[in-house]
Amino acid sequence: MRRKLAAGNWKMNGLKASLAELTALAAAPAPSQTDRLICPPLTLVAQAAGVSGGIAIGGQDCHTATSGAHTGDVSAEMLADAGATSVIVGHSERREDHGETDALVRTKAEAIWAAGLTSIICLGESLAQREAGETLDVIGTQLEGSTPDAATGANTVIAYEPIWAIGTGLIPTLEQIAEVHDFIRAKLVARFGEDGNAIRILYGGSVKPSNATEIFAVSNVDGALVGGASLKATDFQAIIDALDAA
Ligand code: PEP
Repeated sequence: MRRKLAAGNWKMNGLKASLAELTALAAAPAPSQTDRLICPPLTLVAQAAGVSGGIAIGGQDCHTATSGAHTGDVSAEMLADAGATSVIVGHSERREDHGETDALVRTKAEAIWAAGLTSIICLGESLAQREAGETLDVIGTQLEGSTPDAATGANTVIAYEPIWAIGTGLIPTLEQIAEVHDFIRAKLVARFGEDGNAIRILYGGSVKPSNATEIFAVSNVDGALVGGASLKATDFQAIIDALDAA
């Protein structure tokens, strides 16, 4: 039985005052079947960990090394030291803005494990790839290349995030979400056996309170990675409630 996961990605948004949103979330009763995670910008990770109560805190990226001459980067060990328990890797904005490859994402995922944290590995097709009928090929290749061999339900979460749905208000049809999530599940089970059944698969891309319930009813959707709607406690709480009730 997989626990559900509501994960918020604040991206490059949030000043100290934004911690009030986290405090508001932390004041709500803990859901029974759902884990909660907020990934604030790096500047807020340590402070967030101090006020988040039962809500886990994560990073949005990390370097492959534990320390060294890498100006501007942060290691998984540093994130762990600041109170993080998970790190997002391979977000499409990192893949696009910083040229991150599947091989790099895989190495980062291993660095995250080495620090004792969970890797949230993001996959997603572009609109051109979807329109060309390449979605499953693209997702299969990214999944294979970005996920290290020792993945388990405890150390890995997969997030399917169609690039064209991120921040656009567009979402795939429920059938399209089911097709990709079922495909990812089958690939995980084929590669990892029973561990493949324990790895949670999140959907990400314009999840809102208004569409959460229908998305969470889709097979093999174990939760969501939420961008914009995680910035406001009331919106994210509504998504948490919809997930816990699903
Ligand atoms: C994201 O960037 O991970 C994301 C899903 O963003 P949004 O919810 O704003 O589409």
